[in-house]
Amino acid sequence: MSGCKHVASVRSVTPRTLGCEECLEIGQEWVHLRLCRECGHVGCCDQSIGKHATAHFHATRHPIIEGYDPPEGWGWCYLDEIMVELPDQTPQRGPIPHYY
Ligand SMILES: [Zn+2]
Ligand SMILES: [Zn+2]
Ligand SMILES: [Zn+2]
Repeated sequence: MSGCKHVASVRSVTPRTLGCEECLEIGQEWVHLRLCRECGHVGCCDQSIGKHATAHFHATRHPIIEGYDPPEGWGWCYLDEIMVELPDQTPQRGPIPHYY
């Protein structure tokens, strides 16, 4: 893999919430979850109504997310817009709440 320098700074994080933090607050559904590898924020993907993972990136500029629902292990850099290889995979805190 090449091109992304940000992946070198990812941390081992503890997911802050079991599902999308913002969706859980307002009782909204999501499709898939994304985990921020900078701070442990859990947000929903761009197919979800809330797009909270992307919103979190725009708010914080934390560049690297991990596919988290189910744990998929792949990484994505918002700044380089490429898939990146993560050093490890975050274990799910589960069970992940679902509305459907
Ligand atoms: Zn990058
Ligand atoms: Zn959400
Ligand atoms: Zn973050």
